[in-house]
Amino acid sequence: MSGAFQFDPASTALVVVDLQPDFLPGGALAVTDGDAVLEPIVRLLTPGRFGVCVATQDWHPPGHISFASSHPGRRPLDVIDLYGHEQVLWPDHCVQNSPGARLHEGLPWGRVSVVIRKGADPVTDSYSTFRNNWDPSGRRPPTGLAGYLTERGMHTVVLCGLARDYCVKWSAEDAVAAGFRTVVLWELTRPVDPHSDAAVAEGLASLGVEILPDLEPAWGQQR
Ligand SMILES: [Zn+2]
Repeated sequence: MSGAFQFDPASTALVVVDLQPDFLPGGALAVTDGDAVLEPIVRLLTPGRFGVCVATQDWHPPGHISFASSHPGRRPLDVIDLYGHEQVLWPDHCVQNSPGARLHEGLPWGRVSVVIRKGADPVTDSYSTFRNNWDPSGRRPPTGLAGYLTERGMHTVVLCGLARDYCVKWSAEDAVAAGFRTVVLWELTRPVDPHSDAAVAEGLASLGVEILPDLEPAWGQQR
């Protein structure tokens, strides 16, 4: 797991997923221990480590379909059928232009060339940074990120951020499906549901996603 990971930084994109106050301790949909990933991700954003750095930002209009409050009688974490697929209902979170939806102010976002905002369609959720969840017509519309990364010459996608079992997992699945070599930095993510960890790791590995604890050993060797 350590030291053996070989990659070409110039053709590798770092994708930092949903580091927003609503997903951090004290937020509306706080991921336990989510703030533990911040400092290591600051280090990843050191200039020169990746060809491209991208951030994603959950960005819902008020009354979004994924909010339990939009479904009378439902509570957060209830699961409903939505257009033929399971949809978890969440507390209101990452409402457009609210403080909880900002990119966490402690990170050097100036090093990120693109911010993909997702979940802006009122009737469709979007866990993945590459494609929305299923829309009413049964499609999963692309966000354009795969095209952007391809045009920038990226072959590898390295993912970190929140949350491990939703937005990071779905993004990794779609990155592999789009043809990218895909790496999840496991220790630089945290789950909504820790009981999901084994199934998430197994599922991603079965698709060919590489799971590493961190990339720090790759640079540690160069010192
Ligand atoms: Zn959301």
